Amino acid sequence: MKKAVFPGSFDPITLGHVDIINRAIPLFDEIIIAIGINADKKYMFSLEERVNFIKNTYRDKAKVTVKTYSGLTVDYCKEIDASFILRGLRNPADFEFEKAIAITNRKLSGIETVFLLTSAETSYISSSIVRDIIRNNGDATILVPKGII
Ligand code: ADP
Repeated sequence: MKKAVFPGSFDPITLGHVDIINRAIPLFDEIIIAIGINADKKYMFSLEERVNFIKNTYRDKAKVTVKTYSGLTVDYCKEIDASFILRGLRNPADFEFEKAIAITNRKLSGIETVFLLTSAETSYISSSIVRDIIRNNGDATILVPKGII
């Protein structure tokens, strides 16, 4: 049973995340979208809102579930018996950042991180751009899954 955890803030989920998740569906038996709880971070959307956005988006996909966790991602993976972490790569900055974390996670736990390269159509999308648009009363609907905001 190949179980992957896709960790992140998802503040909010975007079409960039959806691209990675949809392309990972054929690769794994189960994908757990795991929203990390970080008490020091300020979010635009509450945890409940972020969970509901994802639930609504993946209502019809039995393989994809959403959960929340606190603490180390590798500890959460062990707790639910997941052997893979899924991450998306948009650019060289993502790569440099993710490389150190992935190597550390493997040293700590043996858990492998699987990277998918973003699709060209969604590589420019980030949750922070979506939040900026919303904060300035713009329309971000083309950047997020249908019907969430
Ligand atoms: P974090 O706070 O951990 O960066 P995010 O919710 O911003 O959480 O991102 C979670 C994962 O989704 C990361 O692996 C990130 O690289 C990936 N991701 C975000 N936006 C995109 C995108 N447009 N294309 C591909 N991957 C993306």
